Amino acid sequence: MSTTERPRILIVGGGYVGLYAAMRILKKMRYGEATVTVVDPRSYMTYLPFLPEAAGGNVAPRNLVAPLRSALKKAEVLTGHVTGVDHARKVATIAPPAGDSYELPFDYLVVATGSVSRTFPIPGLAEHGIGMKTVEEAISLRNHVLAQLDKAESTADQDVRRKALTFVVIGGGFAGVETIAEVEDMARDAAKIYKTVSRDDMRFILVEAANRILPEMGPDLGLWTKEKLEERNIEIYIETSMDSCVDQHVVLKNGVEADASTIVWTAGVKPNPVLNHFGLPLGPRGHVDTAATLQVQGFDYVWSAGDNAQVPDLAVGEGAWCPPNAQHAVRQAVQLADNVISGMRGFPQKEYKHKNLGAVAGLGLHKGVAILFGKYKLKGRPAWWFHRLYHGSRVPTMNRKVRVFTDWTLAMFLKREVVGLSEMEKPFGAFQEAAGPAPKPVEAKPAEAAADKELATSK
Ligand SMILES: Cc1cc2nc3c(=O)[nH]c(=O)nc-3n(C[C@H](O)[C@H](O)[C@H](O)COP(=O)(O)OP(=O)(O)OC[C@H]3O[C@@H](n4cnc5c(N)ncnc54)[C@H](O)[C@@H]3O)c2cc1C
Repeated sequence: MSTTERPRILIVGGGYVGLYAAMRILKKMRYGEATVTVVDPRSYMTYLPFLPEAAGGNVAPRNLVAPLRSALKKAEVLTGHVTGVDHARKVATIAPPAGDSYELPFDYLVVATGSVSRTFPIPGLAEHGIGMKTVEEAISLRNHVLAQLDKAESTADQDVRRKALTFVVIGGGFAGVETIAEVEDMARDAAKIYKTVSRDDMRFILVEAANRILPEMGPDLGLWTKEKLEERNIEIYIETSMDSCVDQHVVLKNGVEADASTIVWTAGVKPNPVLNHFGLPLGPRGHVDTAATLQVQGFDYVWSAGDNAQVPDLAVGEGAWCPPNAQHAVRQAVQLADNVISGMRGFPQKEYKHKNLGAVAGLGLHKGVAILFGKYKLKGRPAWWFHRLYHGSRVPTMNRKVRVFTDWTLAMFLKREVVGLSEMEKPFGAFQEAAGPAPKPVEAKPAEAAADKELATSK
């Protein structure tokens, strides 16, 4: 961390909003005008819309993250959690991964800590649920699913096989629908290389509390997606929820029960709870309360945007808030950056207004659904191509764009990779066992002792 005479713009969070805002500020700022500092516990930004594709093995994990230090060469990038903000002294407290917490002074503050999974106190969920918010979770899910196929192949016990081959996803929004579609596509494809596990041995269940899935797509496309997934033998239960999953025994409110070794939770997000320590006004659901200029209400040196902010949606009208999605996060980041620079120079602030351009969802290889400008609907292969073109071109940094498109092009000529690296979960186990104390020799049993004696006499 450098000490600086220049004003410091402190950006808390290096995700969508943090990365894009920092890039824009660095591009528009005059030389030496300010120090831009980005703090994040991770050293990379994650392109979250690729998580389901990563779980399905269609995007390599390293290609869906952008290293902050290379993407923001002119910024100061610090690794750590911001744990609190003192507005009287204008300092933030940072807890680094090693060493003691320290304070960092700032002149301007950008709060972009995103969201966390929204959960409920459902018995068994904390022990057995798998989240879908980080690249580590997506890769673990892929390894876990493929390990279940290995497990099923290794036993004739029907109960163990059935449980291993049952996959439940809770939440019928983008994350849930794309995750079940990609995982089903991959697992059923992988079944080809197993002798005793077939496509039909697997059971996939999607659970949604509302009366339709993919609400952002509108009722027609939501229904079309549901029917298409059901044709693929994915059971979809709407207007129901999970009551419990103790010992991986899933019980739904509608009476359906299943033993499932994979339970993925994607039932919504809530603002990052760390905001409670930032001394800022929060809305009824815990978001930072911002004006349409993205300035935090009552704080002219603090801006916020993305999943952790409640930003008035001027394109929709009075009383509406922008939904938490990447489309808003990226565009808000640009307006926010311009307003930070204006604020620093004493110029007026501009309001954020953005009309929804549409939505796209990938549903496994060559399958997708999209709605553009609220009226043009794409289904199946055209939607999937559009999904790939759109997300491939949006992933940050040219380096990652080239890698993603290269991976996809190669995959058109090669078979899908279906090896699961479940040992990644405990990679040092084998070495620790080898380097640990030698196990005690097992005492020879009477039968073995007699055999030894016989051998000795015959010599
Ligand atoms: C599986 C999945 C699929 C999605 N698919 C789509 C899609 O197809 N289309 C779409 O529009 N949207 C999609 N989204 C939503 C979209 O990704 C989010 O709306 C967007 O990432 C929000 O950006 P953000 O900057 O607010 O938060 P994030 O991108 O989550 O960034 C928050 C950052 O803050 C950091 N942070 C957290 N706590 C601290 C702290 N205490 N101190 C410092 N840093 C901290 C985090 O490490 C993270 O880097 C998807 C989300 C998920 C989970």
